Order: sequence, then structure tokens, then C-alpha cells
Amino acid sequence: MGMVITIDGPAASGKSSVSRELARRLGWQWVSTGAFYRGLAFAALQLHIDLDDVKALAELTHNPVWSVRMDDARTRVFFQDQDVTDLIAHEDVGNFASKVSHYPDVRKALLEAQRNCSRGPQGLVAEGRDCGTVVFPQAQAKVYLTASSEHRAARRAAELGLDQGDMVKAQQQRDHQDSTRKVAPMAVPEDALVVDTTTMNLEQVVDKVVEFVKGKI
Ligand code: C5P
Repeated sequence: MGMVITIDGPAASGKSSVSRELARRLGWQWVSTGAFYRGLAFAALQLHIDLDDVKALAELTHNPVWSVRMDDARTRVFFQDQDVTDLIAHEDVGNFASKVSHYPDVRKALLEAQRNCSRGPQGLVAEGRDCGTVVFPQAQAKVYLTASSEHRAARRAAELGLDQGDMVKAQQQRDHQDSTRKVAPMAVPEDALVVDTTTMNLEQVVDKVVEFVKGKI
């Protein structure tokens, strides 16, 4: 396994923007592990698989009808050879992803594919909820991003063209589900750098992270 930096944190805390820019500066690859949960939930909905049918969901994790591909700009998801990356970005799919991500069998089945992302010749920046705690516990450096609930909702509402008030509620519900589930709950990894991005711009956050990881990679 190559070198890995993990970036975890709640919904819309800036994980993808920071990971993309950090990977660009280091000349590494990056992956949003949320794409695996979003892709699985999306595929299940398309195939009319009940989101409570754990056995069918676990089987679907290995079905080549859907796939995740790393890309410099975004982590892409394909379903039946169609690029559905834009479709899975919707907050509804995020909520369905949060539902399927509760099942231990589903998480276990997706682990290997997530870990395989680090087998390339370059290093990997991996972002999600449990990247530093479960997927890559041996990562060279771990970061946890956070920001105020209003700020995160405003950021995502602007991106998706939605109402900020509705977004606050949707994200709070998702964060609650993600941080209270029994298996691999969202948590700050031990020895992680915690950055509150509420009053920082992207460059400031990435500068801070680069400074932190410099001595470790
Ligand atoms: O990061 P993103 O919003 O794309 O993640 C969607 C959902 O996938 C999260 O709300 C969470 O339930 C789940 N997820 C997870 N573990 C990860 C990444 C995402 O459980 N490492």
C-alpha cells in the first residue's frame, strides 16, 4: 500500500475541495469514499432494491453494473456505463447513502475497493467519515475538517441551488446518523489535525494541511 493522507469530517465541511487541491499540490490521486456509498444507494434505487435488504445490498457492492473511478476533478460514479456523478451529488442520494452505510456487511464489502485506491504508484488522499479510523488506520497523516452547521449548509445549498434552511435540517439529520451508528461512526481519528474551516478560505486550509503533512510524508 502506498502513502495515504486521510481527510474526514461531516457533510460539506470542505473535504472534497481540500482533498482535490492537496492531491494536486502533491501530485497524488484522491478519492471521495462517499462516492462508494452514494453509488451503491443510487444503483439500488435504479434496480428497485429495498434499502433495508442488507443481503441484496451486500451482493450489489460487487455487481459490475456500477463502478467508481478516480479522476483529478471528481470521484466519478458509473451506472450501466453512464456517468451518473452529477446525479449522485444530490442531497437525497446523500441521505440514502447514509442509510445503506449503516450496515456492517455493506461497509465490509466496500472496504477492499476503497483500500485498492491506494495501490497506484502515487500517494492517495482519501476523504470520508472513517478513512483515518477504519479504511486507512496506518495513514501517514490524518486530518479532520469541521465548520459551523450554518456555514456548511450555506456552502452546499449554494452549490446545489437549494434552500439553506432545508439544507441545515438535512445535513443535521445525516450527521446525526453518521456519528451515532454502531459501525465505523464518524469520529476524529487519534493524532489527527483538526481544522475548523468556518472562517478560512480554501487556500488557507490547504496551506495549513500541507504544513502539517510535510514532516510526515
Ligand atoms: O461524503 P459524502 O457526503 O459523499 O458521503 C455520503 C454518505 O456516505 C455519508 O453521509 C455517510 O453516511 C457515508 N459515508 C460513510 N463513510 C465514508 C464516506 C461516506 O459512511 N467513509
